[in-house]
Amino acid sequence: MPINTGDVLKNQYKVCRKLGWGHFSTVWLCKNLYKNGPKYVALKICKSAPMFTAVANDEIRLLQETRTVNPNHVGYKNIVQMVDTFKLISENGVHNAISLEIMGPSLLHLLMQSDFRGIQVAAVRRIIFQVLRGLTYLHEECHIIHTDIKPENILIKVDENYIKKLIGQMERFSEMGVDLPRSYVSSEFWTKQESSLHDSEEDIIPRFGEHRASSYPGNMYFSEMTNYRERHSQTDFSTPMWVSPNIEIKIADLGNACWVDHHFSPEIQTRQYRALEVILGAGYSYPADLWSIGCLAFELATGEMLFSPKGSSEHSANIDHLCLIWETLGGIPKYITETGTEFKKYFANGHLKDVPADNLRIWKIEDVLVEKYKWKRLDAIPFASFLSSLVEPDPALRATSSQALNNEWLLSTDI
Ligand code: ATP
Ligand code: MG
Ligand code: MG
Repeated sequence: MPINTGDVLKNQYKVCRKLGWGHFSTVWLCKNLYKNGPKYVALKICKSAPMFTAVANDEIRLLQETRTVNPNHVGYKNIVQMVDTFKLISENGVHNAISLEIMGPSLLHLLMQSDFRGIQVAAVRRIIFQVLRGLTYLHEECHIIHTDIKPENILIKVDENYIKKLIGQMERFSEMGVDLPRSYVSSEFWTKQESSLHDSEEDIIPRFGEHRASSYPGNMYFSEMTNYRERHSQTDFSTPMWVSPNIEIKIADLGNACWVDHHFSPEIQTRQYRALEVILGAGYSYPADLWSIGCLAFELATGEMLFSPKGSSEHSANIDHLCLIWETLGGIPKYITETGTEFKKYFANGHLKDVPADNLRIWKIEDVLVEKYKWKRLDAIPFASFLSSLVEPDPALRATSSQALNNEWLLSTDI
């Protein structure tokens, strides 16, 4: 639906600029003109075709649940909550509109900013802790499986004043009659490369300290921080701490989520974060999300995906994926290789079919961390053990989110 900056929707939301988009929607940063409620929201405007409307209706139901079930739960604030929902009519039909708490860039932006070298372990711990707390709320209180935990869907909280400042800059430009390029107004907010809107005032609190030499082009959010560093060159940034330990995150995009007792699809999750039982067609429940968190934690710490299967078809990608899982875990128990609707395609007698054992190179997470990523063995052992509790082939033995929250690695403060 055609939306322009400056439009006021529902007599309440003034459109400031585009924040991002996905398969189902476009998301806009809006000012809330009402006194009640947050000053800014992210307004997700869903496409109008019946298939998209049905998905949006499910997403709204799921968001209503997470908003109301138990606001006092510790994990409540780690889920991006819905503020309001309404319908918009365009020449294309009816669009669901969902206003959400406003958030900043995603963990994918953070990884890009690290040049895919990974972020400081203390920050990984803090992020994963919050993701697990949010999941505890989704699982234990709301009975919802997220099914799409990955860096893009975990958003970083930004200060409302920061948003206000960015919008203020844009408004000043428009008052001055400066026409902002269309590409500026409608491209993804946090990956913008233009630096023309930076000003030199010093009142922006950096959320990140040092960042390793990055070839990733500056964007509004991150180059503000870099500018801050340059202006404070006497400050000691020598600690390899380019993510503030105070980083706060929330889980976003319930667009693929489902109820534990009412699934919408037999196949879930983005390929690299897909749990073994999903690949095998063995059914899924809450543990599928925990598998994805194991993949996410590894990726944040190293900058690289734990499993990155190749393959030109679903079938060949599955074979490659199963080989990677086998090599990383040092095998898959025979009883697991006999579960699901798909196992006969891939396994015979507890072994990968058509893959000679000699072609598999067992390389367990602990050794990968030490040999490839040059971790100290003493640091690698507890982290690998944490990951193994999540990337556990048997969903019944996999750590639950509550159990993972009590893991030694997560609770330790030594790194
Ligand atoms: P997908 O194809 O991933 O299912 P979708 O149409 O369901 O996409 P979302 O993933 O919810 O849409 O949102 C699209 C993008 O909009 C996100 O990747 C993010 O950049 C931005 N976005 C979404 N929600 C927010 C929010 N609450 N605050 C800030 N930005 C947001
Ligand atoms: Mg998404
Ligand atoms: Mg979605």
